[in-house]
Amino acid sequence: MSRYWSPVVAGLSPYVPGEQPKLANLIKLNTNENPFGPSPKVLAALRAACDDTLRLYPDPASDRLRQAIARHYDVALPQIFVGNGSDEVLAIVFQALLNHDAPLRFPDITYSFYPVYCGLYGVRYEAIPLTEDFRIDAGDYLPAAGRTAGPILFPNPNAPTGRALPLADIERIVAGNPDAVVVVDEAYVDFGAESAVSLVKRYDNVLVVQTLSKSRSLAGLRLGYAIGSPVLIEGLERVKNSFNSYPVDRLAEAGATAAIEDVEYFEFTRRAVIRTRDGLTGSLRGLGFDVIPSAANFVMARHPAHDAAALAAALRERGIIVRHFSHPRIVQYLRISIGTEQECDALVHALRTILV
Ligand SMILES: *Cc1c(COP(=O)(O)O)cnc(C)c1O
Repeated sequence: MSRYWSPVVAGLSPYVPGEQPKLANLIKLNTNENPFGPSPKVLAALRAACDDTLRLYPDPASDRLRQAIARHYDVALPQIFVGNGSDEVLAIVFQALLNHDAPLRFPDITYSFYPVYCGLYGVRYEAIPLTEDFRIDAGDYLPAAGRTAGPILFPNPNAPTGRALPLADIERIVAGNPDAVVVVDEAYVDFGAESAVSLVKRYDNVLVVQTLSKSRSLAGLRLGYAIGSPVLIEGLERVKNSFNSYPVDRLAEAGATAAIEDVEYFEFTRRAVIRTRDGLTGSLRGLGFDVIPSAANFVMARHPAHDAAALAAALRERGIIVRHFSHPRIVQYLRISIGTEQECDALVHALRTILV
């Protein structure tokens, strides 16, 4: 606390990211990074972009990258917005689209950055409980008769539960809230959920946010994007150009363009992660864990006879880090990111010795 801080800063509760340990040799299954490196074509594009042109500002519109994204998803250029990671895109979405008189609605258990942005941008929100089995019930997001409904935001698959919402349910929410923006955060969609990009062509109130951090192995490059109707994208551009009109740097644009274009590598790695996730889910169930069905690159698991915090501590002693959350509904769960086959085998082996 300092008297030099503005009052809003004194009242913030900043997001606490998962640990990025400085120790080598730890098995890091705590922040949902991809166990595969980026595509070799991405690394080549980054090397090729390292030249004298770095003295120049990047293209403020990131046209090359936006064209690659537009081609990949078969949408038009004015439907694409890019930023430094989807966290930055979401920050701009909060300012541009989610701050209305009626409160923003999102699930009670969800990406813990959402309430942080509400604090920073002064957005009122209502947390809507997930069902007993951690599903989003689309019916909970339909406006009551005569009530002005606020905007809606949820990840699909949800984080940190990993559960996916079927596209038909997303469409029910979008169609049922024609006067409110519905933002679908698809950070993990490539690991097994249905994307809402197809809805963007038919509804002008839906915005899809994606990232290269997870399914394209580029958390270190910081690149995220939004796909929506031109009117929503224009709202985002207005905020961006009032804040930092050159957000995506030259290297990020070159690497990200190559990542979007290398569909073959993307398909290979995401399928491998899905296969490893399904194998790990089976092994954990074999050890007596309850595992929430996951469509993401992580699983949420609880053991009926072992305290989650104690399990996380015991794994850490064996050089394996997983994530543990304090929200009361999930305090007995561990969130385990999908690593390589070997890393997941090491986890199962460690758990077997801990559980005896
Ligand atoms: C990882 C994650 C993000 C942020 O991704 P970046 O693009 O790395 O900023 C956004 N939303 C959810 C739900 C995530 O899990």
